[in-house]
Amino acid sequence: CTPSRSRGHDEKILVTVRVRPLSTREQAAYDLIAWEIDEHTIVSKNLNHDRPTGPYTFDRVFDQRSTTRNVYNEGARDVALSALSGINATIFAYGQTSSGKTYTMKGIAENAIQDIYHHIQIAPEREFALKFSALEIYNETVVDLLNREPGPLRLLDDPEKGTIVDKLTEETVKDDKHLRNLFSICEAQRQVGETALNDKSSRSHQIIKLTIESSLRENSGRIKSFIASLNLVDLAGSERTSQTNADGTRLKEGSHINRSLLTLTTVIRKLSGGRKNGHIPYRDSKLTRILQPALGGNARTAIICTISPALSHVEQSRNTLSFATSAK
Ligand code: ADP
Ligand code: MG
Repeated sequence: CTPSRSRGHDEKILVTVRVRPLSTREQAAYDLIAWEIDEHTIVSKNLNHDRPTGPYTFDRVFDQRSTTRNVYNEGARDVALSALSGINATIFAYGQTSSGKTYTMKGIAENAIQDIYHHIQIAPEREFALKFSALEIYNETVVDLLNREPGPLRLLDDPEKGTIVDKLTEETVKDDKHLRNLFSICEAQRQVGETALNDKSSRSHQIIKLTIESSLRENSGRIKSFIASLNLVDLAGSERTSQTNADGTRLKEGSHINRSLLTLTTVIRKLSGGRKNGHIPYRDSKLTRILQPALGGNARTAIICTISPALSHVEQSRNTLSFATSAK
């Protein structure tokens, strides 16, 4: 949607920011809205009379009134649909816990399913085959969201395919209804793990991967085929990249630091800084090893950064906006 920014194979990462409405709890606590937003910029209102923050500029900033459809259309659609033409795609939600990552990714998934099946319908000359898999990474342990039984899964290095997740379930998708059903199974699975460990969702990453294969018979009779993956990633809370507590004291031990999230932010910063930054440390975490083929290179990436509007969360929102700035 921003062709002027396209640099051929070195495509820029599409970075957008979504600000959710004040929650009922924030409203009840008379929390204030700390940010002023317009289409492309966000700036702090400076209610604390401390240092002003921003204005930050992005491809798009979505305010409290924007719908998930708006966010999909302008912050994810082009990237998602590129998977239909053989280009790997990844869409991330990044932000502190309770900023709206899961809410946003759920809406992105609904819109993407509808959009993909619409495109399949209007292209009867092409044949499509879709496969679905889903996993969770928690403390650098990978678990299959379609089948938890076997426990942690190993990553293997395949000389041809690169990193593969050993024994991960891959379902052949029958139709859009089946696909919606697979998404809800994963959602339910994620909640099962939740009761056992209550802050798990804030510390775990979820990757849903849709592999799309399509083939087209050309006039010459030759069959041309494409294969690509669309990865929808709901990240752990970004407060996990910080080595300090909200009050500035150091976290005890390294136990709270999320290796996958830290490595991802490094990888994204390096990718957006261009090739001149040399070595990209994909291999330093499970998340980046798994996503490597769909991150950088010819792949297309969108990052939706979610923030709370509240003054009480202004420090975490600043951190998110500063990561977002480094990603564009
Ligand atoms: P996260 O996954 O980042 O921890 P959630 O997506 O669970 O955050 O959102 C926290 C709460 O805020 C949920 O109750 C969710 O329904 C609500 N919420 C998040 N984003 C929005 C939004 N844009 N509009 C309305 N409610 C939202
Ligand atoms: Mg969540």
